[in-house]
Amino acid sequence: MSTFARLPPSGIKVVIVGAGFAGLCAAIECDRKGHSVILLEKVKDVKPLGDLITFDSNGSHVFGQWENVLETLDPLLYKSPGIDYHDWKGQFVTRQNWDADRQIRTRSISGHRGEIHLVILQHALDRGIDVRLGQKVTDYFETDEGAGVVSNGEKIMGDCVIAAEGVKSPGRKAVLGYEDLPKASGYAVYRAWFDSEVLANNPLTKHLVVNGDTHTGWLGHDVHFLATSLKNGKDFSWAMTHKDAANIDEDWQFPGKKEDVLKELEGWSPVARELVKCTPDRNLVDYKLVFRDPLPTFVSSKARILLIGDAAHPFLPTSVQGASQAMEDGVTIAVCLEKSGKDNVAQALRAHEAIRYDRVHRAQMTGVTTREQWHKADWDAIWKDPQSLHFKREAWLLDFDPEVHAYEVFDATFAKLNQASAVEKKQEAFSNGAATLSALPKAVDV
Ligand SMILES: Cc1cc2nc3c(=O)[nH]c(=O)nc-3n(C[C@H](O)[C@H](O)[C@H](O)COP(=O)(O)OP(=O)(O)OC[C@H]3O[C@@H](n4cnc5c(N)ncnc54)[C@H](O)[C@@H]3O)c2cc1C
Repeated sequence: MSTFARLPPSGIKVVIVGAGFAGLCAAIECDRKGHSVILLEKVKDVKPLGDLITFDSNGSHVFGQWENVLETLDPLLYKSPGIDYHDWKGQFVTRQNWDADRQIRTRSISGHRGEIHLVILQHALDRGIDVRLGQKVTDYFETDEGAGVVSNGEKIMGDCVIAAEGVKSPGRKAVLGYEDLPKASGYAVYRAWFDSEVLANNPLTKHLVVNGDTHTGWLGHDVHFLATSLKNGKDFSWAMTHKDAANIDEDWQFPGKKEDVLKELEGWSPVARELVKCTPDRNLVDYKLVFRDPLPTFVSSKARILLIGDAAHPFLPTSVQGASQAMEDGVTIAVCLEKSGKDNVAQALRAHEAIRYDRVHRAQMTGVTTREQWHKADWDAIWKDPQSLHFKREAWLLDFDPEVHAYEVFDATFAKLNQASAVEKKQEAFSNGAATLSALPKAVDV
């Protein structure tokens, strides 16, 4: 038995599918609230894959709630005090200091996605959570009393199922009742992560890695290029977002080709071009960005299956919010289940949706607004007001504690949902001739 802080057992059994940041966070938060968790992940051998990811303060705050996690992450994280923006030709425009965000409660954290993920997975295992790797879920089902999945041919039941299996979510069909394929966003990102030694020995790029961590951006029409050094300049990561007409099918991640990147960067800063030339071929990825219109609901018809994270709402990287919002989802459902109790699990899932729906879609849109802010920049206006280029750091989004918020709004949300259910029941009874119109409560807006 682990010694981590947790509430007394709630008796609620939660089956979670997918151990990305959404599923892991939901698992850890449900464990903190005393629910019993089975976490199923199709990958058998989790490896530190990917490249740079940033959790802004609304997400990093959640890590701070978990014993020793921020301390373990610290040596892996980027420490640059700000970002230097340039125009595409390489002329310096402005520096955005992260210190200027001091009013935002917690610092944001950036590091290698795979390395951060392994720390969180280890925390879940240390807590004693029942994490089952190599489990591919192929089917979902629900009854009035619970829900379950078929994983590697075996039925696994719980009081509810949380589908956190990312953009390709098979759980979405179980919730929506129809296939809803992701769409191409019209953009793609070339991404790379590699050891910076090759840059330290190059006069054009040396300054980005030899004096500790740096963060640099070059912005042009419909293209932006961001470069980051971390671990005291030892590791290097860059990402270039650009227009892309490719149609997505089953896969949207491919090996990248340096000549394609350099073609996009014709006439660009010699430093940015040199970063591309120095990138080892095997470390370059061409990632097509997919998008999805807001789903009508995150909850199945009997409200026993819930979509969270990218399964419910994929994010563009320019919002720098997808993973943080996935974490907010995990925190919120754990609180809703705690507050509703085992007898009201379906209402807990509906309450989660009511609490999350507007906020998460508002956050999702920032991915488009930031991209347009940079890609469609009016450079005459920017040279007059360079700070207008700064990445927007808005308090409504970042200075937010999803746990406090869920506790604050749960009771009112739950009461409204119950009132709405009462209206529905009476309307049903009325249409069956069992009630009079005057007996109907006033409809409520949830
Ligand atoms: C290029 C790029 C850069 C990004 N950068 C940032 C950033 O800097 N900051 C940020 O906040 N967000 C960023 N995002 C968004 C962020 O990565 C996602 O929003 C977030 O990781 C979603 O987490 P998730 O757990 O919902 O999904 P995923 O990370 O996709 O996890 C889903 C998990 O479910 C498992 N799974 C899938 N199907 C099954 C099945 N049938 N059975 C069992 N398991 C299954 C998968 O193996 C996987 O482990 C970026 C996105 C992209 C594309």
